[in-house]
Amino acid sequence: MPQEDIFGMSIKYVKGVGEARARLLSKLGIYSVNDVLNFFPRDYQDRSVLKKITELADGEECGVRASLVSNVTESRPRRNLSIIKALVSDGTAFLSLTWFNQSYIKNNLKNGVEYIFFGKVKRSGMRLEMNNPVIETAEQFGKNTGRILPVYSLTKGLTQTHLRKITENALKLTGERFEETLPQDLRESYNLSQIRYSYEEIHFPQSFQHMVQARRRLVFEELLILQLGLLKSKGISLEQKGNKLKPVDISPLLNKLSFKLTSAQKRVFEEICNDMQSEKKMNRLIQGDVGSGKTIVAVLAIYLAAKNKYQSAFMAPTEILAEQHYRSISPLFGELGVSVRLLTGSTKKKEKEEIKALTKEGKIDVLIGTHAILEDDTEFFKLGLVITDEQHRFGVRQRAKLSVKGENPDLLVMTATPIPRTLTLALYGDLDVSIIDELPPDRKPIDTYAVNESYRDRIYNFIRKNVADGRQAYIVCPLVEDSDEIEAESAEGLAERLKNNELKDLRVGLIHGKMKSSEKEKVMRAFVKGQLDVLVSTTVIEVGVNVPNATLMVIENAERFGLSQLHQLRGRVGRGKYKSYCILINQSKSDVSRKRMEIMTSTNDGFVISEKDLELRGPGDVFGVRQHGLPELKIANLYRDIDILNDVQKAVKQIIDYNLLSDDQYRPLVKKLDDIMKEKFKEISLN
Ligand code: ADP
Ligand code: MG
Repeated sequence: MPQEDIFGMSIKYVKGVGEARARLLSKLGIYSVNDVLNFFPRDYQDRSVLKKITELADGEECGVRASLVSNVTESRPRRNLSIIKALVSDGTAFLSLTWFNQSYIKNNLKNGVEYIFFGKVKRSGMRLEMNNPVIETAEQFGKNTGRILPVYSLTKGLTQTHLRKITENALKLTGERFEETLPQDLRESYNLSQIRYSYEEIHFPQSFQHMVQARRRLVFEELLILQLGLLKSKGISLEQKGNKLKPVDISPLLNKLSFKLTSAQKRVFEEICNDMQSEKKMNRLIQGDVGSGKTIVAVLAIYLAAKNKYQSAFMAPTEILAEQHYRSISPLFGELGVSVRLLTGSTKKKEKEEIKALTKEGKIDVLIGTHAILEDDTEFFKLGLVITDEQHRFGVRQRAKLSVKGENPDLLVMTATPIPRTLTLALYGDLDVSIIDELPPDRKPIDTYAVNESYRDRIYNFIRKNVADGRQAYIVCPLVEDSDEIEAESAEGLAERLKNNELKDLRVGLIHGKMKSSEKEKVMRAFVKGQLDVLVSTTVIEVGVNVPNATLMVIENAERFGLSQLHQLRGRVGRGKYKSYCILINQSKSDVSRKRMEIMTSTNDGFVISEKDLELRGPGDVFGVRQHGLPELKIANLYRDIDILNDVQKAVKQIIDYNLLSDDQYRPLVKKLDDIMKEKFKEISLN
């Protein structure tokens, strides 16, 4: 039989399966021999150690080698309950064994024969017991005892013993036929074991070191395929050539700023310069916590491009943000001979036409805007730099669409989404990552409090006090309007109530996603100008909005938001020189909610928050990954396997740089990649 047939063969034909079990296995997603091999243990049980009975400790799981010293007795205290008892000894002590509802055992145990018993030890005083131990004769030793056994996730009707047997048979069947998918050079460079060894040792390890070694290889391969798959499905190759820019003196721009760059900002801009001044096309992600000052870094890059006679496009996910960028950038550039225009959905038709014409003629250096920049009739004269702010709102396709508007323009992507670095690397496998890991020095940490409903009056007094000091406040609600189904505060309902009752004396505004964008703009502008004291909103204000005078953020039903989202929302305050506060109203009494609130009140660091969040959800959770449409990982854990992922990143770079995928020794890997992509990357290629 040709080799792929064995691996692709239906699981039905493996010894010990048959129709009925095949149906059960299908519930676990196992249809073929290959599926069962890739159904990895979720844990292991160490049955390798045998001890003397006297050495047994209470609660440990262990094996002993012992013989019967009494007759086996069976009692039936109730219908449906049979109890088998036996006393065994290894010469050092006695051990009482009990089995429930396993009558057949009494026929299996013979006087004068040595057995291995494995189970959980119960010790009370001198008395040692095991309930339902596994039995094996000395000859069988090494099958069900005397070694490390895999523990699989199961489905009703299927036992560990079944699945172990089936896996063992599948391994026997495929044994010699495994074809190595990772070239020897690669395996040697990254200390990766051979494929057959890895599959055998991941299921039935001879020792835990072997298992770790096997797992390393399998995780490496899975992540390697993920990364190469992402690159392929996006059609992005790291080899792309870009424009080579000349260095530019940026001091005229720096002199116009009222602050000094942080060293993180300097470092990141240097990384950008290296990219833009080299032949290679820049594909860079800037990750920086809210308020870390990403915008100015983008502005510097735009300046570099403009002074090299290249145009830039700067996209934001909302009109509010685009306009905000325009307001802060155009005064800087005004006297430096860099022309800036704003183009959004609400730009008047006539002005739009004018801007598009000027852009096409090359008379505009920077076009700031929303998706409107993506419209097909926006043409650039010489587009050299594309920047997208708050990347998580943009799809890969939109990025690609903008890129083709120039001749391989450099690409800069900015995000504050504080996903841990591990996930970043995987999600943006095609991007180099720069991290701004330092906040400007004048930032005071935001004091965060988690409270319950009973604090409402005090909160409103606190808002009033802040407003009396000349500051402004946000109140964020999970819902737009009141709902019969969901018990939570709505922005419309709350704004109405506050205007008429609790905050009658203040100027209260309302903004939410169901409003027309012109209305939203109007409200936002009023808040920016200080014509509103309190802004009641939904999460529309989550991203990027910069109102330094706002110092108080109140979040209703905080338990309903993700931690990263709470952090983003909190980042709307603490952006100026004033001390800022965040108050989380938690309506839930659950332990998890309490812990989540504790995380928020104990740190202002977005990276710590997202890592703790993942921890709370459990290490096996790949929800974050699934949300982004990546294929489900079978063995790798992006959270725990960061070291392996870093090695994979290095390997991918080498593979791309030296164009190794076309090399003969990579053929098996490329084939596997293609097969997997056909199946698993469906979603991504649609993106
Ligand atoms: P984000 O990274 O969240 O996009 P912004 O770029 O909007 O942050 O910057 C937030 C605020 O910090 C802005 O008002 C900006 O002018 C200011 N800022 C940026 N860099 C510095 C710095 N090095 N020192 C002081 N303030 C800075
Ligand atoms: Mg920003």
